[in-house]
Amino acid sequence: MLKGIGASPGIAIGKALVVEADEIVITKKDGINIENELKKLSDAVEVSRSEITKVKEKVRIELGEEESEIFAAHLLVLDDPEFIGEVENKIKNESLNAEYALDEVTNMFVSIFESMDNEYMKERAADIKDVSRRVVRHVLGIKVIDLSALEDDVILVAHDLTPSDTATMDKKKVLGFLTDIGGKTSHTAIMSRTLEISAIVGLSDATSKIKDNDFIVFDGTTGEAFINPDNDKIEEYKMKKEAYEEDKKSLELLKGKKSITLDGKQVELAGNIGTPNDLEGLIKNDAEGVGLYRTEFLYMNSDSFPDEDMQFEAYKKVLEGMNNKPVVIRTLDIGGDKKLDYFEFEEEMNPFLGYRAIRMCLDRTDIFKTQLRALYRASIYGKLRIMFPMISSNEELLRAKEICEEVKHELKNEGISYSDEVEIGMMIEVPAAAIISDILAKNVDFFSIGTNDLIQYTCAVDRMNQKISYLYNQFNPSVLRLIKLVIDNAHAEGIWVGMCGESAGDLNMIPILLGLGLDEFSMSPISILRARRLINSVRESDMKNLSEEILKMTTAKDIEEYMTSFTENNK
Ligand code: PEP
Ligand code: MG
Repeated sequence: MLKGIGASPGIAIGKALVVEADEIVITKKDGINIENELKKLSDAVEVSRSEITKVKEKVRIELGEEESEIFAAHLLVLDDPEFIGEVENKIKNESLNAEYALDEVTNMFVSIFESMDNEYMKERAADIKDVSRRVVRHVLGIKVIDLSALEDDVILVAHDLTPSDTATMDKKKVLGFLTDIGGKTSHTAIMSRTLEISAIVGLSDATSKIKDNDFIVFDGTTGEAFINPDNDKIEEYKMKKEAYEEDKKSLELLKGKKSITLDGKQVELAGNIGTPNDLEGLIKNDAEGVGLYRTEFLYMNSDSFPDEDMQFEAYKKVLEGMNNKPVVIRTLDIGGDKKLDYFEFEEEMNPFLGYRAIRMCLDRTDIFKTQLRALYRASIYGKLRIMFPMISSNEELLRAKEICEEVKHELKNEGISYSDEVEIGMMIEVPAAAIISDILAKNVDFFSIGTNDLIQYTCAVDRMNQKISYLYNQFNPSVLRLIKLVIDNAHAEGIWVGMCGESAGDLNMIPILLGLGLDEFSMSPISILRARRLINSVRESDMKNLSEEILKMTTAKDIEEYMTSFTENNK
């Protein structure tokens, strides 16, 4: 049995597919046989060609002509005599091993294409990199798993999954994820919930303990996974799966209902999204709005900074898709663990405390203004709320608002319309901001508490670090006191306060948050209906008493135990 952190609920039963994500190390080898290297290269090119052709056909049938074009471009690279011909020349003339020659030629072409001032050409650089990676893996005999063309239903086992893995994989064939690293708030965990795929993260050694085709059963809520279990265990999990599916069906009845306590306190249950494509999950789960649109994915899935029009289209799509329900769009939150392929962040001792998010945007106002222009232009298509991440001082907030005014002024001069109703808010994810929330509340329309970071900064515990994850606890009294302070200060100034960190969707946390007076809860769409069921079943007055009791407790452990049994008894 392996035990990790339950990241996305549901029961998965099936065969494992281990995805190796080790970096490929390419070295120059001496004493090579030129004929052998040429043969290795041509074999690898052949296998790659047939793989890409298969994927292209599959994508064309399932997703359409346009989506399959990327693979047509990959085939063009493979068939380009200048590219592969140049690699062959290097092998022959410089006696290089195939992978080394391929790497040299790839780097040369990539730097030529990347330096061109032309979006189309820059994209070709990405194609060359992708194709080259595939061929190199075949030259070296490293297994290539194409997640977009899985043959059978599988449980993916990986050290970690990249955003491009999760974006390209064939979701219908993936029964679940198991990863070695990560916590409840790591991006793989958040993504698994968005995709509604059961997952356990932080298993430490899943990739070394599990082999391809091992039979696995796991529970994405408890974080327990069994490798090649006996029949009794398999039967137990089949029953658990049935019960889970039944419960999921019963949640359907809550669609279209209000999120309101028995004594009449209504709250807003919104969803967190990463891309406009996630709207489907939001609508399916009856979200009452978008409480957090993490725009960094628009930047991370791009080959260069996305231009104003591209951003405008994405924001407009979300605003229109939500049909006048409120949409909180967070300005760029990059840096820390989120990097960009096309922007060099300087080496830092403490990237989480460094040049990131609003700090970078206030420094690179060109990048910030492009985003704000796109946001204001899109504002006429729905109910937009703009939110700044990582604010740690009043000065930062005032400067960010000043830039919004500049952008509006520019748009007005250019005769471009925007809505006057846009709300401006900020995340509370740095303790400094929580402590001066009485001051900040005077300058915004709303707060949204980002517990994922607030816990890490309050407790000085890296949210990605496995070894100290026992200290990363939402029930730490320090965190709960800060949450109470922020809600009280917001209400004293007459503004609303939400939460978009993962705690907002946690059934053990929601009763406390209700009691403290939180107005909006934004979570992975998959959690919305369960949260509504809970809210509809309790009284606000009882939750007030509960939260008062909780705030008297002195350890995270006591609070956690109390809340776990509270939830159990209220099922
Ligand atoms: C947070 O910090 O709580 C949050 C919602 O932001 P992210 O998880 O994107 O850092
Ligand atoms: Mg954050």
